Amino acid sequence: MHYVLECVECGSEFDDDSLVRCPECGGLLEVALRYDEIEVSRSTFEGRRLGVWAFRELLPVNTDDPVTMSEGGTGLHPCPRLGEELGVRELFVKNEGENPTGSFKDRGMTVGVTKAVELGAEVVACASTGNTSASLAAYAARAGLTCAVLLPAGKVALGKLAQALFHGARVIPVNGNFDDALDVVKKLADEGIVYILNSVNPFRLSGQRTIAYEICLQLDWEVPDAVVVPVGNAGNISAIWQGFLDLYRLGIIDELPRMYGVQAEGARPIVEAIRRGKEDIEPDPEPETVATAIRIGNPVNAIKALRAIRCSGGWAVEVSDEEILSAQRELATREGIFVEPASAASIAGLRKFVEEGEIDADERVVCVTTGHGLKDPETVMEVCELPEPVEPDPETIQRLIAE
Ligand SMILES: *Cc1c(COP(=O)(O)O)cnc(C)c1O
Ligand SMILES: [Zn+2]
Repeated sequence: MHYVLECVECGSEFDDDSLVRCPECGGLLEVALRYDEIEVSRSTFEGRRLGVWAFRELLPVNTDDPVTMSEGGTGLHPCPRLGEELGVRELFVKNEGENPTGSFKDRGMTVGVTKAVELGAEVVACASTGNTSASLAAYAARAGLTCAVLLPAGKVALGKLAQALFHGARVIPVNGNFDDALDVVKKLADEGIVYILNSVNPFRLSGQRTIAYEICLQLDWEVPDAVVVPVGNAGNISAIWQGFLDLYRLGIIDELPRMYGVQAEGARPIVEAIRRGKEDIEPDPEPETVATAIRIGNPVNAIKALRAIRCSGGWAVEVSDEEILSAQRELATREGIFVEPASAASIAGLRKFVEEGEIDADERVVCVTTGHGLKDPETVMEVCELPEPVEPDPETIQRLIAE
């Protein structure tokens, strides 16, 4: 086998794929690739169509028949105008909204649901702020599995809710926030009632490592100085860092980037822990932000994310809802890229990192925008004004254009 599951807390190793937490200590499990057993080089990946499965040698599955819809292969867009405004030499946006269901969650689900099928699971489940449920609902439909999604009632963006409902998942709104919903799914998973596809699932996070693999390939195997990621449950920033480490340890890249986490002011346990030099977070019982995808008070992957940020020499910062919404608008109007509020946190955060001198003006920066703007049309319509209708005559229209 080219991988084992390794406990993040006690370091024990297991080669039983049905585990979702450490049987010794209850800690999180991570896929540890056995680099000696993997024979790859840059050219292994170069001739292939860009996407998650272009990196199949680095994925923890043993099937030739994955549950897939061409996920990954998202654009790494140069954003010179926005970069200049924010004061960095080279800004790229890795736009994960281009995935099949509109968020990076698809990278995890194609691997996670493939593993669920491999394991013979019948019911898959997750707690979700929205995108995880949209993605799992779609991949479960494709695999013919029963899917249950638990959502914090009233706090899920419209587009995501529509997706989960329409793909035929059992959508269960719960009275409580994301963290409460996740606690329930974890308990059901421990009892073997459902297969859990939250970011405690090590296979899912392996799929998300491909964000790092793709960035390196798209930059002709050069490594960015800094990678900026919005942080909710903190799985993604941990996975992306691990992805860079994989390539480094395989000898495919010879440098590592610094990892920067961005949270909302109203949900920022990771930022607090980084600032105070703490080993673990203090959960926030009442997270609140317009960026519902990162409205999480007790990130399950906190320990890994703190490690990623510290080991890489990065930093973390919080941004206000106002800063998030104005960054969202700037990215849309300056660069033509429409992302949801949580994704715009990376742009708002970059501005602060530059102001605080954490990121230098002459550096090459990648901001990961995590989900598509159409996911959350309601938030957008609150800040945009729809003009009154007019008569369709050329003079009126010309006047309006000139205004
Ligand atoms: C899930 C999600 C996040 C947060 O990712 P974590 O892995 O939970 O930190 C950020 N933005 C969007 C759009 C998401 O869907
Ligand atoms: Zn353990």
